[in-house]
Amino acid sequence: MKIPFFNYPELYRGHRDNLLKIFDDIASKGAFIMQSELQQFEEKLSKYVGGHVLGVGNATDALELLFEAKEVKQGDEIIFCSHTMVATASAIKFAGATPIPCEAGNDHLIDVSKIESLITKKTRAIMPTQLNGRVAEMEEILNLSKKYNLEIFEDSAQALGARYKGQHAGTFGSGGCLSFYPAKILGCLGDGGAVICNDMDTFEKIKLLRDHGRAENGDVEFWGYNSRLDNIQAGFLNYYFQTYEETISRRREIADIYFENLKDISQLTLPPSTSDLNHFDVFQNYEIQAEDRDNLKNYLQENDVGTLIQWGGKAVHQFKKLGFTENLPFTEDLFTKLLMIPINMTITDEEVNFVSNKIQEFYS
Ligand SMILES: *Cc1c(COP(=O)(O)O)cnc(C)c1O
Repeated sequence: MKIPFFNYPELYRGHRDNLLKIFDDIASKGAFIMQSELQQFEEKLSKYVGGHVLGVGNATDALELLFEAKEVKQGDEIIFCSHTMVATASAIKFAGATPIPCEAGNDHLIDVSKIESLITKKTRAIMPTQLNGRVAEMEEILNLSKKYNLEIFEDSAQALGARYKGQHAGTFGSGGCLSFYPAKILGCLGDGGAVICNDMDTFEKIKLLRDHGRAENGDVEFWGYNSRLDNIQAGFLNYYFQTYEETISRRREIADIYFENLKDISQLTLPPSTSDLNHFDVFQNYEIQAEDRDNLKNYLQENDVGTLIQWGGKAVHQFKKLGFTENLPFTEDLFTKLLMIPINMTITDEEVNFVSNKIQEFYS
């Protein structure tokens, strides 16, 4: 049995005939840029998350456009969780602002108890990453945002469909992003992303910003960018999105099997289970904390089980070449234990049990 961490070719192969037909339809119409497929996709996603969604080039662009629209500027500080993709911090940096890293907690998301001590007169916003398909403890973040008059931006690139007390990731503050990178739960066949805007002014502004600042009448309203979601990718995304609810159910089912199989292993800390009523997790990843992580990873590799250490094994503030000087002891310790085990749409129950058995074997 060979179990890859993620099966990239299958994203295409498993849907080949449908995707070829979609490509043929769209290409035959010559509908390559900002056509009806994109508009349909944006409407469907807007309705689904309960925000105003705009397709853009990728999730990193989404964050940069959001900061531009919201006039994040030099001197602003934005507090983000250091367990995230470097893109979260680089978007803050390119807006001219300062990324302030915060500790992650045992759920691998921003540790809300560590935010307040990082707030200064320059703090502009709190920016949780809704990591692994789970939403952070938003009630406490909303309280802090009210108390100190701070904005909230969400890196919700991994969290389409994830909810906290029924509310969707990306809709809690000034805006969020979505990524359709192939390995994301809703992945396209290349790069793609979206901005979630929570007010119409921001929506209208980013609609122009993503297309050179050009209004419908052709006038250029302000300096803009080129970051549009490709119409052919939007066509593929409409197709994959049709079965998104089933996709999430399957991922939650896999998470349940892992939880049952692994919950008694004392050397592991597992992601919170699906029985947590405040959180509806979509399990972009199944990221565990494992004692003796590197040997476990090797053992699984020897048994043909692919695993991945997120972000290459470093929290953002540990990329010292970027100029960070902070020490975050909990997060640094966490990064010696983190490991992602396979969760995807091609893995079978039998394979999930096989992976679990190999992990049990390793620790016994
Ligand atoms: C994937 C990802 C991004 C970047 O998405 P792109 O579409 O590749 O720009 C940003 N943040 C997080 C947390 C991600 O997982």
